[in-house]
Amino acid sequence: MCRHLGWLGREVSVASLIYDPPSGLAVQSYAPRRQRHGLMNADGWGVGFFDGPVPRRWRSAAPLWGDASLASVAPALRSHCVVAAVRSATVGMAIEASATAPFSDGGWLLSHNGVVDRAVLPASRTAESTCDSAMLAALIFDRGLHRLGETIVEVGTADPGARLNVLAGDGTRLLATTWGDTLSVLTRPDGVVLASEPYDDDNAWQDVPDRRLVEVTAAGVGFTPLEGSR
Ligand code: GLN
Repeated sequence: MCRHLGWLGREVSVASLIYDPPSGLAVQSYAPRRQRHGLMNADGWGVGFFDGPVPRRWRSAAPLWGDASLASVAPALRSHCVVAAVRSATVGMAIEASATAPFSDGGWLLSHNGVVDRAVLPASRTAESTCDSAMLAALIFDRGLHRLGETIVEVGTADPGARLNVLAGDGTRLLATTWGDTLSVLTRPDGVVLASEPYDDDNAWQDVPDRRLVEVTAAGVGFTPLEGSR
């Protein structure tokens, strides 16, 4: 499934997060190293970042590796909080920019790495697309991000086959869940990276165990087991 990345810290360029590292999202679009579901992430990309308190997004349904415009502009896009993703669409889901993370409610940027049976999700008028991830994002926004862990446990219980790795940011914090797929954390002197897989071989990367809620704030990184953990 998809690969995502979040940043919270000092202002850095988008290029420094996704293009410069040897296995950044740009490389993960065609050669992910830890992807267990799907071979590559050719079905679109999205870069979301906070401009002061305002979330801004640039999304495309084309492969990231071929996007010369983003590659040109990314060194000039700078932010203290970034949520970016490359997409491997689940079979049957539309390939369109509106189905590509990050999704937003105007305050949060949110990416979903995984799959969920849409039959267990309530119909939502606010979902940006009919794809499972957009419907899940709408449910999470409706319930409120302060209930993210609870919402993931509820959806994961209703669909035991679901994989529910979510990553969200609101400019002051990142929240993430692990439920069926990989996530790693890198604490740097200038901030914290959350990523589906390490973007380099620095041995400071820590793997997050399955079924955790991760919270990153200026005060540090916290991990909480999700109810129903095996
Ligand atoms: N199921 C979602 C989609 O179709 C997310 C896929 C993913 O994690 N690759 O876009």
